[in-house]
Amino acid sequence: RPVCIVCIGMAGSGKTTFMQRINAYLHGTSSRPYVINLDPAVRTVPFTPNIDIRDSVNYKEVMKQYKLGPNGGILTSLNLFTTKVDQVVKLLEKRTKPDPQKPETKPIKHIIVDTPGQIEVFVWSASGAILLDSLATSFPTVIAYIIDTPRTASTSTFMSNMLYACSILYKTKLPMILVFNKSDVKDPAFAKEWMTDFDAFQTALRQEEETGSFGGGDHVPGGSGPQGGSGYMSSLLNSMSLVLDEFYSHLSVVGVSSMTGEGVNEFFEAVESKIDEFERDYQPELEKRQ
Ligand code: GDP
Ligand code: MG
Repeated sequence: RPVCIVCIGMAGSGKTTFMQRINAYLHGTSSRPYVINLDPAVRTVPFTPNIDIRDSVNYKEVMKQYKLGPNGGILTSLNLFTTKVDQVVKLLEKRTKPDPQKPETKPIKHIIVDTPGQIEVFVWSASGAILLDSLATSFPTVIAYIIDTPRTASTSTFMSNMLYACSILYKTKLPMILVFNKSDVKDPAFAKEWMTDFDAFQTALRQEEETGSFGGGDHVPGGSGPQGGSGYMSSLLNSMSLVLDEFYSHLSVVGVSSMTGEGVNEFFEAVESKIDEFERDYQPELEKRQ
């Protein structure tokens, strides 16, 4: 059976570039992927999708017709597309079985999916949930959570991002691979260390407190104010990192550069191990939910 890889991540984390990279990688092996673009608002995609949400809904027109802003436009476009999810799954199932009429075309082994730039539109909407569920009931499905490594280098932005990933794992109930992207700009070794060695994270926390750089990231409100290094924030981060320890134990972690292709091999090794996990742990749960 083919595996379905769904790329999720904050705007600008590199989902589309990562898609382009794994698409190119798979074309280089003998297994051509089936590519789906679910971002209605993207201007140009650097790959050729087999299914493109932009072919069935015009995001600009949707905004005009329903008098919506950009986010409403994206959400409504996704809703309109979701009404056709049965057709999409049928199409996918056809392409993943050998075709007796065309024995020369090989069945696909990978379905790769790009999602809207605004992460919450996909993760916290009914359509997003329906699309993911439909895929996951037909194919082993894995979430690739793409992280902008250079922008996650302070302990506080790191923690925010991990908590977000944790909430997505909890919401989707699908196996997840954390992809620390942009390794060409910043080596993700620090992140791997923080995830496996609690003392290392504590040390980083203390260092940032001392140098006053703690909370200097741009995602924590008030983090860089005079109270940036206060006892409250660090004790909060401390106790949260204990919670996250449990979360980390369920994840695969890879460092990747979508720019240079570094780490893409490791990513596909992680996908293989997640397929087994999906069939063992997640599928029985999914069937219960039906
Ligand atoms: P998306 O919003 O998540 O789809 O992000 P994009 O794929 O559009 O990428 C956002 C920006 O990050 C673009 O300017 C990309 O060129 C850049 N980018 C993505 N991946 C990498 C990477 O591995 N290394 C570097 N240096 N830049 C990257
Ligand atoms: Mg994109």
